[in-house]
Amino acid sequence: MQLEHVACYLCGESRSEPWARESGYSMVKCLNCGLVYLNPRPLLSDIDAAARTGMHRLDRGVLRMVGRHSSLKVDEFCQKTSALFPQEELRSEPCRWLDIGAGFGELLEALDVLVASGSELLGLEPCEAKVKWCQSRGIPVTSAELRDISGEFTHVSLVNVFSHLPDPVEFFEGLRIRLKPRGQLLLATGNAGDIPRSEFPGSLYLPDHLSFSGEGHMRAILDKAGYKVIAMQRYRAGVTGENRLVGHLKNLARKSLRRPAVPLRIDENSRFRFLWIRAERCA
Ligand SMILES: [Zn+2]
Repeated sequence: MQLEHVACYLCGESRSEPWARESGYSMVKCLNCGLVYLNPRPLLSDIDAAARTGMHRLDRGVLRMVGRHSSLKVDEFCQKTSALFPQEELRSEPCRWLDIGAGFGELLEALDVLVASGSELLGLEPCEAKVKWCQSRGIPVTSAELRDISGEFTHVSLVNVFSHLPDPVEFFEGLRIRLKPRGQLLLATGNAGDIPRSEFPGSLYLPDHLSFSGEGHMRAILDKAGYKVIAMQRYRAGVTGENRLVGHLKNLARKSLRRPAVPLRIDENSRFRFLWIRAERCA
């Protein structure tokens, strides 16, 4: 597979130090801003193709990232969204909410019970299998690109999408004009850019993840792209009963392939956190 060398996705610096290796890929840490990013990385055409199919080619075999719908996620997203957007606010008037990287529609399902009646919810998702699954269940998710969707939104969300963006700064700058003035952004991502690999729970899923930011990186990008951070919640990683079973089965598979097992228990001292951020488009 052809790879290309890139500079830091945020600051353009090309000097870096090793951060981690997995599945034949390297994550490096920018010596200027500390962003952790995949370098070298697949060509943009291969990154796009993998987003559509959910499959990444590795030196040996493929990494399949399609996954499946999770009801636990719907409950989790409902709680975490409510912590940033109080119910009385969401119910006060209809919104037009766009969820980018909607997956199996779990956030849209959560929003469906949180927002005022008359609201319009729409999800964009590149992975064809996920779109098909959502559409078969009446969840409003499409494979269209952002540029194909007209109008402005009162809210835009990106849950666990940041690390898949090949050019985060450009993306957030472009997204700004799709939000109404003082429109709201909901972001969820990990803070792996702030910690060593040893404190990151589980697999890195390379090359599906392209970069890992920390709190400062997220604030810097949002500031640069014209948003103001309103609130930030930090959550510890937890392994649910369901994920623990899946993780155990995957470890058995890894063992048979003579690959290292992934720890299922989260280190109590790990500083890894999921960041849930509410930001507002500056007027
Ligand atoms: Zn940098």
